[in-house]
Amino acid sequence: MARAPFELAGTRIPPGSRAQIDVPVAKLYTHAPLHIPVEVVHGRQPGPVLLVCGAIHGDEINGVEIVRRMLRLASLSRLRGTLIAVPIVNVFGFVQQTRYLPDRRDLNRCFPGSEVGSLGSRVASLFREQIVDLATHIVDLHTGAIHRTNLPQVRAQMKDRPATQAMAEAFGVPVILNAELREGSLREYAQSRDVPVLTYEAGEALRFDEWAIAPGVRGVQRVMRLLGMLPTDRRRHAPAVAEVANGSSWARSPIDGILRPRARLGARVARGDVLGRVADPFGNAEQEVLANADGIVIGMSNLPLANEGEALFHVARFDEIEEAENAVETFHSDFETRQEL
Ligand SMILES: [Zn+2]
Repeated sequence: MARAPFELAGTRIPPGSRAQIDVPVAKLYTHAPLHIPVEVVHGRQPGPVLLVCGAIHGDEINGVEIVRRMLRLASLSRLRGTLIAVPIVNVFGFVQQTRYLPDRRDLNRCFPGSEVGSLGSRVASLFREQIVDLATHIVDLHTGAIHRTNLPQVRAQMKDRPATQAMAEAFGVPVILNAELREGSLREYAQSRDVPVLTYEAGEALRFDEWAIAPGVRGVQRVMRLLGMLPTDRRRHAPAVAEVANGSSWARSPIDGILRPRARLGARVARGDVLGRVADPFGNAEQEVLANADGIVIGMSNLPLANEGEALFHVARFDEIEEAENAVETFHSDFETRQEL
């Protein structure tokens, strides 16, 4: 029997073809229509339906570039299953270069949403009904918040979720955070429906960080190979090793002042190490920002201006710290080798 076309928002995509679809989401108050842009690649052969989406937080744009590069891969002509690529979910926030929706809500706290709720709730509900509910697997692309940068990392439920766990390990970035599910997030919603889902967090908001984008493109491809959606790579590189963190915490600014960071992203630190120093503009009243655990710096502030209590360095803890350190080093040298090729 011939494979059925894929249908999204009223558009039918025959097997072996692709289509760009503008899914109407709302109107601006100028009455100009606003759409969520979607590209569907519907393979000739049956397989999973993978949703890859970016910019649920409107200023997190590394994922937009990851999706663009994904869609240019020649191997998609041999796709098994269906790829739903959504470069920009929060189109409102993207236009305004902000994380939030115009009503200052965080779209990633609005799932599953409701047709009669707030703007955030309505956008979440529409995105869910028209797009998310079609997917059998999801990769959600994020970056650090504004002025914060993340070491490439995957966040996923690593307990009792073998399919999610396999995707997280296949992605091939050095750190996996077995992160709590945030209420109202896409990840929580998908997990509640037993749809394997992971979040890729890398780089900084409002930036294109090549060291976050390139591994993201490779990570999605690795997940697609794991799911049998893409042919296996013959030029096989050694599989990247990921270490699962057993927790993480932020080292915060002890005072209001100006930060001189000392630790770098990806650095191994020991409890009590000086991660940076905060002082007044003359350098008086200086205080140290200390690591509160042994671990790896997986996120940090890029803005040297800090209030007391400001989250400055995100340190992940590991059972096998040596192995985590090696995973980060291998990841960095692998990235540099590829850049030179
Ligand atoms: Zn985000």
